[in-house]
Amino acid sequence: MLRAMSLPVLSGREGAPPADAAPVSPDDWRWQVRHAVTDLPALEAALSLTDAEREGTRRALAGGFPMSITPHYLGLCDPHDPGCPIRRQCVPRIEEADEVAGDLRDPLGEEDHEVAPNLVRRYHDRVLLIATDRCSVYCRFCTRSRMVGQDGGVRGLERLEAAFEWIEAHPEIADVIVSGGDPLVASDARVASILERLARIEHVLYVRIATRAPVTLPQRITPELCRALRTHPSVWVMTHFNHPRELAPAAQEACARLVDHGIPVMNQTVLLRGINDHAPTLETLFRGLVRQRVRPYYLLQMDPVRGTSHLRTPLDTGIALMAALQGRLSGIALPKFIVDTPGGMGKVPVGPDWIVRRAGPVTTLRTHRGVEVDYVDPPGSHGAVRETAEHH
Ligand code: SF4
Repeated sequence: MLRAMSLPVLSGREGAPPADAAPVSPDDWRWQVRHAVTDLPALEAALSLTDAEREGTRRALAGGFPMSITPHYLGLCDPHDPGCPIRRQCVPRIEEADEVAGDLRDPLGEEDHEVAPNLVRRYHDRVLLIATDRCSVYCRFCTRSRMVGQDGGVRGLERLEAAFEWIEAHPEIADVIVSGGDPLVASDARVASILERLARIEHVLYVRIATRAPVTLPQRITPELCRALRTHPSVWVMTHFNHPRELAPAAQEACARLVDHGIPVMNQTVLLRGINDHAPTLETLFRGLVRQRVRPYYLLQMDPVRGTSHLRTPLDTGIALMAALQGRLSGIALPKFIVDTPGGMGKVPVGPDWIVRRAGPVTTLRTHRGVEVDYVDPPGSHGAVRETAEHH
């Protein structure tokens, strides 16, 4: 039996379910939120914890990066296996106290790139809007562990107005990523009001909602929410499935609901040591996502967030995995492997080097079969790339 959380993730004042709503069904997302596990006794009742998990949880609850696990996500955990790939993503461990060389509090330099309250700009044409600091599950690898779960909950529209005004004043911004925390912990009305405000800014061509709700709180993806998401004419959902076991029936239904409402869904998988750093696991995950009409978009090298070295792989692991998957998966199922460089300097696609050598017009390529094949440029075509670029 799971205990109700002691501190609600949401409050009615901030756009959450009204206080008089009393959801009684685990199929209701508000029930899931209200019964999320946020204390040690409830966690002990659900899982047989190791000392490392117990101490990690005590530390998290004593003011570190908080813990919250929905009954849905807890139900995917193996209660007896501390190596369970779902459990390792949501149960704190004492290794979170470790800091190693290269660890950063704010690995993407988001604080240095804040251009207005709750608004981060790292690229010319896009901005990140922090709509809340709350999540239904706090992922132990979170890049924003410095601030999620600590900074005031869902932002009311008035708290975001300075960010909207900044976007209005910058016509080069075409793409707004609504993130947090998880913006879908807010009510339908709050989500719609943010999208409606953005829809009034003509140069914002598309909006991305960054959310783990399809994975950790799939009950949240109701037909009503899908209709609220359509408040903006071009909304894309960016989600984070990391392991095939997360593609549970409820998660599959959530993805189908989004896509059936005309909302494209893209997935960013974080590469995690001992969780998904295994080619067959990733192959199953990516195929499963495409089956659900979700595009595997990025495989992300984990950001060097402080206290996460036990979850990070060396860069070579990702490169080797991409080499193994090339040729096994078609382009529709194969994401780009990306390093988001520390300091907020931008994303870099990384991968195996398929070019063996170059000699004049001849480039020797190694295929996924290990065969070397020459590709010969057409005569007189050197310099054509520059000319073509200039014509455009
Ligand atoms: S849902 Fe996103 S913001 Fe929230 S803890 Fe997980 S990774 Fe971090």
